[in-house]
Amino acid sequence: MDYVLKGHNFEDEVLSLAQMFFPNNVYSRKDDISDCLENMTIVSVLEERGSQACLYIDNKKVSEFYTEINDKDIKTVKRCIKTSLFYCFKKVYDLKMPWGILTGIRPSKRIFSMWKNGFSDLEIERTLREDYLVSDEKIKLAFDVAYAEKNILEKNDANSIGIYIGIPFCPTRCLYCSFTSYSLEQYKNKIDLYLKALLKEFQYAQNFADKFNIESIYIGGGTPTSLNEEELEFLLSNVKKYFKRPIEFTVEAGRPDTITREKLRILKKYNVDRISINPQSMNRKTLEIIGRKHTVEDFIEVFKMAREEGHRNINTDLILGLPEEKREDIFRTFEEIYKLNPESVTVHTLAVKRASRLKETLETYKIKMPLAEQMEEFLEISRNFAVEMNMYPYYMYRQKNMVGNFENVGYCKKGKECLYNIKIMEEKQTILALGAGGSTKIVDPVTDKIDRVFNVKSVDDYINRIDEMIERKKEGLR
Ligand code: SF4
Repeated sequence: MDYVLKGHNFEDEVLSLAQMFFPNNVYSRKDDISDCLENMTIVSVLEERGSQACLYIDNKKVSEFYTEINDKDIKTVKRCIKTSLFYCFKKVYDLKMPWGILTGIRPSKRIFSMWKNGFSDLEIERTLREDYLVSDEKIKLAFDVAYAEKNILEKNDANSIGIYIGIPFCPTRCLYCSFTSYSLEQYKNKIDLYLKALLKEFQYAQNFADKFNIESIYIGGGTPTSLNEEELEFLLSNVKKYFKRPIEFTVEAGRPDTITREKLRILKKYNVDRISINPQSMNRKTLEIIGRKHTVEDFIEVFKMAREEGHRNINTDLILGLPEEKREDIFRTFEEIYKLNPESVTVHTLAVKRASRLKETLETYKIKMPLAEQMEEFLEISRNFAVEMNMYPYYMYRQKNMVGNFENVGYCKKGKECLYNIKIMEEKQTILALGAGGSTKIVDPVTDKIDRVFNVKSVDDYINRIDEMIERKKEGLR
């Protein structure tokens, strides 16, 4: 898709808005409409008194929209450019866009910044509705999440940190996976070396972590329970050896096909007090399509086993918008989850990336994806079930590159909010990330300035270059 900007250079604003209507496109900037070769072209023009947006298809103008600008303030100018594009696209593609022109990943952050600038809730509501075209329902959601986060962040201890530990192995790769994950089959001989490298990083990280209170430890992946019992015990005993006991200790058990009673006992033994067991869907056919090697029954069995072993804080991850799922499938999923009564449910909306394995599979087998309009209905079902389950939304982030730009929402029962999720989302705490693909965030508690230190993603590079990773951290954390 081509685009032309005249009278301004606000490329990010134009592209973020365009991606909401035309996700997964490759955008190419041209100087003039006469240079455009693609069958679709966006033109955004900023004039003295307003902003104009035009959409061309096959060299024919199919839509245009003009927004007057009454204020030369840069924020207003950017907003007007986005508004003109929004209405221009909407004339041709009448998609429900409940987040309006709000394109950021964290809507609650916008509320926090307006609170900081002295806005009242009523003023914020009006701004979101009238200036950013956000629907009432999404405004409510954004406020619910902002208040939940505020409650937690107000108790923020400036001398606390979180620790993330990555175990990037999975039994098989799910079709939609976009995480750092390596197949167990291929990498089983390297797990030992990986854990030894990780241990070296623990030894260095201990010096840093000892200066702080450790609020949370989060072991994610991949699927940490892909490790066998012995490896899991090795990992957790070393976490215990090198780091003080955190307030919250989460292990993403993730896939039911990796969990055994013994592993659940080991997690308990090392004081893991929050686990996640993720069915994604409670429909057999869907699990087959997305390449999960477990059944609905396997998930139920493992969930009950976790309860028997004393796990009292269990999260379940679900995905809305999986291939071929309809309203009744979403209902069935939530009905089954309701019966199990977890402490929290994280509801994701699926984005199909242009060059993903999922996209290829869908095309090969002619599998249909739910439409964006259906997604709104699915989200409503999830909201209603959350209320039924006595849960409320406590954290949220939005998907980029997806029609409609939907949201992922964490619901939980009161008192079961995941501190790590909130802190990483709102970027209010230093998170020390260990393991392949780890991205350490160093937050200055006074200025909120963030610095990052990255570990390499590849398991082989991580093992071979562990000393370099430690040096990078030493430098970054100085
Ligand atoms: S379980 Fe998660 S990390 Fe592992 S392959 Fe599936 S989506 Fe990726």
